[in-house]
Amino acid sequence: VSAALCHCGKEGFYLRQHSGDVLCEKCFVKSVERTVFKTIKREKLFIPNDRIMVALSGGKDSIVLIHILSKIERSYGTELIAVTIDEGLSGYRQEGLEISAKVAKDLKIEHRVITFKEIYGHSLEEICKIAEEKGIGLLGCTFCGILRRRLLNDYACRIKATKVATGHNLDDEAQTVLINVLRGDFSRLARLGAKPVATRTGFIPRVKPLRYVPEREIAAYAYLKGFPLYERECPYVRASLRDEVRDILNCIEAQHPGTKFSVVRGTDRISDLLKDKVIKSEVRRCSRCGSPTGREVCRMCEVLSMLGIDGTFINHLTE
Ligand code: SF4
Ligand SMILES: [Zn+2]
Ligand SMILES: [Zn+2]
Repeated sequence: VSAALCHCGKEGFYLRQHSGDVLCEKCFVKSVERTVFKTIKREKLFIPNDRIMVALSGGKDSIVLIHILSKIERSYGTELIAVTIDEGLSGYRQEGLEISAKVAKDLKIEHRVITFKEIYGHSLEEICKIAEEKGIGLLGCTFCGILRRRLLNDYACRIKATKVATGHNLDDEAQTVLINVLRGDFSRLARLGAKPVATRTGFIPRVKPLRYVPEREIAAYAYLKGFPLYERECPYVRASLRDEVRDILNCIEAQHPGTKFSVVRGTDRISDLLKDKVIKSEVRRCSRCGSPTGREVCRMCEVLSMLGIDGTFINHLTE
């Protein structure tokens, strides 16, 4: 909050550090929306008649995303479907599920909930218990991430969605870039670009319309719009490399405003150059489930077999 005035003459609400702009509440909201619309247009995230599946967790990012997308739905002639994944974390996901259902209802968007239990036969809690009993040293987030990503894609296939939209913001993306650099994983870096890539059949392109909106602006937008805030922490969350990277980036950003943008925009350019080389050479199919993967056995089949869970029942999703 700043005492300075917005260019329109109204009282300032938000000081955008990297540009020095002071914005009033109204101009701030418009500016965030404009950034998203511009991203969609410039990167050609959607085409008319797209059937967009929005991953709605109930957190602020996905709520802001679905609100902004609902404003363009008609002009694009596109269709939105909200999907919430219930991993099965008692006491944690419930609130997010309720908020998601309400948000979708208010926006008159079809909402579906899919659970780990119905697809994988076990909730995340049960999976973590099995892992502990078997002495598998992987974290809850590893199972959660792999199984959720796969579920989103396979469910999108099943409902014939043509795009999957997620609420990743600028901070998430800048962190992911740095993590991949630190791990030397350049093939993932190549896939991080903004443009939807559909080089693999059975793989629904994922788009991130909030990719150039800083987390702080999403929080401020959600606050101004009075969206329900859901800040409960997952019981499985552990200190991770991402936390350290987040701190480092915030620290650099404070001293050098605009760094997160540079990191993400720079990666877009690298990704444009690397994409064709890296991604095309990776078209393979998992020898167990047949889904597109860069490996002999996909990550999902790998973790399911470690856990001793029979993954064949999920094939009905992929058809
Ligand atoms: S913190 Fe980890 S286990 Fe919890 S919802 Fe997120 S990814 Fe899943
Ligand atoms: Zn203004
Ligand atoms: Zn597989």
